[in-house]
Amino acid sequence: MKTLNNQKIVALEDYESLLGAERIARIREMAEPLRGLHVTHINSTYYGGGVAELLSSLALLMNNVGIQTGWRVIQGSPDFFSITKKMHNALQGGKINFSGMKRNIYEQVILENSIRNHIDHDFVLVHDPQPLPMILHYKKKGPWIWRCHLDMTHPDRILWKYMAPIIEKYDAAILSIMEYKQRLKTPQLFFMPAIDPFSIKNRMLSEKEINERLNHYRIPTDLPLVVQISRFDRWKDPEGVIEAFKLARKHVDATLVLLGNVASDDPEGQQVYQSLLNHREERIIIMSHEDTALVNALQSKAAVVLQKSLREGFGLTVAEAMWKGTAVIGGKVGGIKYQIRDGVNGFLVSTIEEAGARIVQLLKNKDLRQKLGRRAKETVQKHFLLPRLLEQYIGLFKSFQTVYRLKESKHSAKK
Ligand code: UDP
Repeated sequence: MKTLNNQKIVALEDYESLLGAERIARIREMAEPLRGLHVTHINSTYYGGGVAELLSSLALLMNNVGIQTGWRVIQGSPDFFSITKKMHNALQGGKINFSGMKRNIYEQVILENSIRNHIDHDFVLVHDPQPLPMILHYKKKGPWIWRCHLDMTHPDRILWKYMAPIIEKYDAAILSIMEYKQRLKTPQLFFMPAIDPFSIKNRMLSEKEINERLNHYRIPTDLPLVVQISRFDRWKDPEGVIEAFKLARKHVDATLVLLGNVASDDPEGQQVYQSLLNHREERIIIMSHEDTALVNALQSKAAVVLQKSLREGFGLTVAEAMWKGTAVIGGKVGGIKYQIRDGVNGFLVSTIEEAGARIVQLLKNKDLRQKLGRRAKETVQKHFLLPRLLEQYIGLFKSFQTVYRLKESKHSAKK
C-alpha cells in the first residue's frame, strides 16, 4: 500500500500474496507501454449497485499501473432515470413501452450530458444503457467501448432494435458471459467482474469488529444468520427469499436479515423496500443502512448467504460472500451460474422450495458449510479478484492500440 498522509491506496503489488509475485510482475510489465494513456469510464451512478462498486476500485488500480483513468457520472432528471430503469428491466426480459416521448427525454438528457462533458480520451468505456447514446455526440479520438453489466439472456427485441445501431458505433462491446452474446456487427468480448479484497467491504474483519457492527444495529446472533444483501429490486427476489426462509424455519431456527439499498439511478428501489416492510418480524429483519462494514460483517458472520436472483448479469454480492468463506445459495441464472458450481462451492437453486431445502441442509450441516465456503474462497482467489479484470482491460487496450496504430500508419503512408 502507498501511504500519503496516512491515506492508503491499493497498489497492484498488494496482490502478490494472493496471486503470486510473478503474475503481478507480468501484469505490471504488460501495462508499462500504456503508461500515460488517458481513459475514462462513464456510468450513471456514483453509488449503489455493482457498477459503482466495481468502478471505485478498478479506476484506482488502473491509475496505479500508470493508465490515467477517470470516472464520469451522467446526471439526469427523475423522468430520465425512470425511463432508463425501464430499459434496464426490458433488457433483462421485462416489458417496456418505449414511446416517442420516452425516447425524446432519454436522448435529450444524454445530449445535455454530452455538452457538459468534454471527452477526448484515448479510450472511453461506457457502462450500461443509460449513457449509451453519448457516442453520437463526439468525434472519436480513440476507441469507445460499451460495457454492459446486465443479464442479457432475453433482451426485449424492440428495445434492442433501437439500441443495436448505437452499439454498432462502438469499437467493441463487453458483456459478462458468452451466453449474453447478441447479433451485432461490433466485436463482442466477455469479462466477468471482480472484487477488491482490500476494501472495507471485503477485508478480513476480526470477530470483535464483526460483533461490534452487528450489535450496533441490534442484529441478534443467538441463532444462525441467513442473509441476503441486495439493492431493493424485484430481480433480486426479496419476497422469494422471505418465503424460502419461512419454509426453512419449519425445520430449523434462524434469523433472516435482508439488507438493501437504493442506487441513485434506480427510482423503483424505495417502492420495493416499502412493500417488504410488512414482512418484518422478530426473526425477519429488513433494513437499509449505508454501511459497508456492516455488509462485510453480515457476509462474514452469516451461516448462509442467499442471492436468489431471478436475473443477474454477475453478482458481486455472490463473489463478496464467497470471498469470506461463507456458504452461498444463488439463483440458477445469468452470471451466478458461472460463479457457483452447484454442490462444489455453493448451491444453485431455481425455486423457492429448493432454496428453502438448501437453507435447511446447510444450517444442519456445519461441515458442509465449511467445505463449500473453503472452495468458494479459492474460486474467488483464482478467478474473481481485480487484477484478472485489469489484465483483461490491458489486453484490450493493447490490441486496439495496435489496430489504431496500423490505421494511422496506413493513413500517413497514403499522404
Ligand atoms: N450493496 C451494499 N449495500 C446494500 C446492498 C448492496 O453495499 O445494502 C452492494 C453489494 O455489496 C455489492 C453491490 O452493492 O457490492 C451490488 O452489486 P451486484 O453485482 O451484486 O448487484 P447490482 O446491484 O449491480 O445488480
